[in-house]
Amino acid sequence: MQMQTESAEILIVGAGPAGAVAAALLRRQGRQVLVIEREQFPRFSIGESLLPQSMQYLEEAGMLRAVVEAGFQYKNGAAFMRDGVYTAFDFRDKYSAGWGTTYQVQRADFDHLLAQEAQRQGAEIRFRHEVLDIELGQPGGRSRVTVRDPDGQQYQVDAGFILDASGFGRILPRLLDLETPSNFPVRGAIFTHVADGIGSDAGFDRNKIRVTVHPQHCNVWFWTIPFAGGRCSQGVVAETAFLDRYQGTPTERLQAIIAEEPSLSALLKNATWDTPARQITGYSANVDRLWGEGYALLGNAGEFLDPVFSSGVTIAVRSASLAAAALKRQFAGETVDWQADYGVPLRRGVDTFRAFVESWYKGGFQTIIFHAKQQPEIRRMISAILAGYAWDQGNPYVKETARRLAALEAACELA
Ligand SMILES: Cc1cc2nc3c(=O)[nH]c(=O)nc-3n(C[C@H](O)[C@H](O)[C@H](O)COP(=O)(O)OP(=O)(O)OC[C@H]3O[C@@H](n4cnc5c(N)ncnc54)[C@H](O)[C@@H]3O)c2cc1C
Repeated sequence: MQMQTESAEILIVGAGPAGAVAAALLRRQGRQVLVIEREQFPRFSIGESLLPQSMQYLEEAGMLRAVVEAGFQYKNGAAFMRDGVYTAFDFRDKYSAGWGTTYQVQRADFDHLLAQEAQRQGAEIRFRHEVLDIELGQPGGRSRVTVRDPDGQQYQVDAGFILDASGFGRILPRLLDLETPSNFPVRGAIFTHVADGIGSDAGFDRNKIRVTVHPQHCNVWFWTIPFAGGRCSQGVVAETAFLDRYQGTPTERLQAIIAEEPSLSALLKNATWDTPARQITGYSANVDRLWGEGYALLGNAGEFLDPVFSSGVTIAVRSASLAAAALKRQFAGETVDWQADYGVPLRRGVDTFRAFVESWYKGGFQTIIFHAKQQPEIRRMISAILAGYAWDQGNPYVKETARRLAALEAACELA
């Protein structure tokens, strides 16, 4: 039997932050957008601490007001704790211009809100529809997309351009064999939400994410992400071999690892563990290209580095903005060089974060931020990158990230 076929100017796979922001930006250009999302929203997702740089793209997409009014936990920085030593970056004090504050969000609510904002601007989102296959290279550079609806029926969409925002679903990288191994060891995270019971006398700054380093293993770390309403997201990240040493349910294993860190144990002593913990492993992924004839990969469907600097959503919405700008020119009849206009500029910021992540796990970044004497101007440059301004070529630590971090680490060790 012939499958039913319809047509779309632009088809977006996935309605996470990358897909929703791209859909809204394209609607603002007057394009017809069809978003296929396999889950029913609201749905759980990890990745709850935003960076101020992402606010620029939410604003561009006409979503800022809804996000500001939603009542999420205000965030103005990142704090780090190691062996009882505390250091905090205030993102309002940073080298690059732009937003200095943002939010920490329950992603079920946040992603639902962004999707509703995209719909409000005219994007059609089909929830519980799943993209099964994409055949690129059809006549006119179009693609044939096979979708399964909630009743299990399949249909096809003839699409002019595909934005793959399928996150860890990574549909096009898998279909086109674009995946390349990540050069990071396989790490995992165990995490949950708790009623944190942290009293106002605990010296805990709810306006900042707290990253706590394991006392014996500098490559094992915990996140504590406060939400509005007395709740926190609590997680641990380590190589899978480390996580595998702990027995029991994910909640018991998370609690056992937290028990090894005195400051975090004290902070969470009154917590109510009311939500079973989950584990996710092997999330880091690379691709050998971020675009091709008739498609571009957005957000996690392209690359995912590591959660330590909370860069995922920022990269996702930045990629949406860059792709929408390139498509605007393409639809205006200009020739777009996707490598120069999308692949290279997106990777620039990703590579800045990559150098920070590498330095974090080798211990160099920790030597720098926990050093007793720090130059305020250098701290402001680092603060800007931690706030997500990883694309600001005016910041020396963006321009020459690895070399500068190595030199700074050496200077700290000498001092
Ligand atoms: C442990 C951990 C902690 C993290 N912490 C942070 C953090 O604090 N801050 C931060 O910014 N980032 C964080 N991240 C990263 C963050 O989760 C992601 O970068 C972000 O969600 C990427 O958004 P996205 O829109 O690309 O993909 P997603 O948000 O994953 O959305 C993809 C959507 O595509 C849909 N989909 C998938 N396949 C199909 C298909 N075949 N058909 C239809 N729909 C499909 C999915 O259902 C999903 O809704 C963390 C990641 C991990 C692993």
